[in-house]
Amino acid sequence: MTTPTPTAPAQEEALEKVSPSASVLTNVYDSAERLKLDAEVVDLLRSSWREVRAQVPVRMDDRKLRIFEGYRVQHNGARGPYKGGVRFHPQADLDEVRALAMLMTYKCALMDLPFGGAKGGVMCDPNRMSQTELNRLTRAYTQHIGMVLGVSRDIPAPDMGTNAQTMAWMMDAYGQRYGYTPGVVTGKPVELGGSYGRDQATGRGVATIMREYAAREGSHPKDIRVAVQGYGNVGSWTCRIAVEHGFKIVAVSDVKGGIANPDGIDIAALDRWVTVAGSVAGFSGATPITNEGLLEYDCDYLVPAALGEVITGQNAGTIKARAVVEGANHPVTPSGDRGLAERGIVALPDTLVNAGGVTVSYFEWTQNIQQFRWSLERVNEELEARMVSTFEQVMARAEKDGTRPRQAAFDIGLERVAKAIQLRGFV
Ligand code: NAD
Repeated sequence: MTTPTPTAPAQEEALEKVSPSASVLTNVYDSAERLKLDAEVVDLLRSSWREVRAQVPVRMDDRKLRIFEGYRVQHNGARGPYKGGVRFHPQADLDEVRALAMLMTYKCALMDLPFGGAKGGVMCDPNRMSQTELNRLTRAYTQHIGMVLGVSRDIPAPDMGTNAQTMAWMMDAYGQRYGYTPGVVTGKPVELGGSYGRDQATGRGVATIMREYAAREGSHPKDIRVAVQGYGNVGSWTCRIAVEHGFKIVAVSDVKGGIANPDGIDIAALDRWVTVAGSVAGFSGATPITNEGLLEYDCDYLVPAALGEVITGQNAGTIKARAVVEGANHPVTPSGDRGLAERGIVALPDTLVNAGGVTVSYFEWTQNIQQFRWSLERVNEELEARMVSTFEQVMARAEKDGTRPRQAAFDIGLERVAKAIQLRGFV
């Protein structure tokens, strides 16, 4: 019996599954070629500046010791201190964290923030851990990576599986060794020096990009049906603010399942349900759908806002939306991207769409350094202005060069990083 030969997209997909960082590098090489970048600059960006792999031992509530694995990857710091979230997730392995750190380098550059790119992660399932276990895990992780952190060195923030409470523990653990340093993390609770508006910033940015894109298409939000995968920080705030703009949310999902209502989901009622039930699943104002069903749901804009690599060469052909608005990091693989482009589906890239979070993290960091608090109105106004102007830059660049928005976003980001590398004399 002969084994069937995998098709080209299946082979590509298999390779992409092996290495998320290789898949991010596909975009970098593509952009470097367009920009005719110096080969030594590209060599420098191929790998990370520094990767810390740490043992994270935790005494669990049952008194048994469990040893988790944690990472902090600093990809490139030519434009400023390293910046990037910390992810607590069973699949947050070194290569995934490395890929996300690379994306941060280009995201910060695209948004013209004075930061390099980093990411952290601990391979664990926070949903199966108590608050006391998470507290101990966060402190052990911070203790083991603390030597590479600092207000002008590397500033973590929340990501999947972590939140403002996690940042409070990180700040406290860092402070115990190095002295009170609120600016060492962003996304902290407001009571500890966090910024107003940071919790909603990524979703606000996603909703702003959707509104700008709709205006560019000449359509009105009330005529646009949106499906959102993930109802955590990014997904839920995207829904709330998109509804304020007039969009109709027709489907949402989380790790436990999805729900849909073609007439629009009542997001305020859904929030009340999630507070009690802990999941969107089971909400009575909609019908159940699967997570795969959500991606294929009949809608105008699809917002992946959970895991990476959910749109691939295998399922790009089944997507009905006309635009994919990337709330999550790296939700579309390179072959998925080609599959969408072949079908005329526009992918608005993660480095632009979800950059509201790191932008308000930057505002928080500056507030901490100045010991001065901005009002929520100021935070939202400055965020809005940066999201709109970067969206316009990306679309103008794409039009000028005849490229797609993802290519234009990478070109702008990579160009800025390469310039800083050369000016600082890294090569
Ligand atoms: P979160 O932990 O708050 O929420 C994640 C959501 O995804 C939850 O609703 C969870 O149930 C859901 N989920 C997990 N696995 C799923 C699956 N298999 N199918 C469907 N849903 C699933 O995380 P978050 O902070 O909202 O981050 C979501 C994405 O956005 C990540 O890719 C993250 O890197 C990216 N991001 C987050 C921020 C931020 O400020 N938090 C900023 C930029 C990008």
